[in-house]
Amino acid sequence: MHIKADLGKCLAYANCVAAAPDVYDLEGSFVKVLEPNPSPEHQAAARRGARQCPVKALTIEEETVK
Ligand code: SF4
Repeated sequence: MHIKADLGKCLAYANCVAAAPDVYDLEGSFVKVLEPNPSPEHQAAARRGARQCPVKALTIEEETVK
């Protein structure tokens, strides 16, 4: 799993931080992804945080097993 943040969209609502404080933080007016490749125990919260972003600034790429 890999998280990408589009800082051009982020409006610092901090919903992602509220949902997953171990994964996201705010730095100034933008999200900071603390764990771009979240450990397994943080992945559910990371997904929840991305879903709750009102401007869809967070994209989660799932790794594809080949
Ligand atoms: S919820 Fe979205 S807009 Fe708000 S801080 Fe997180 S990424 Fe930025």
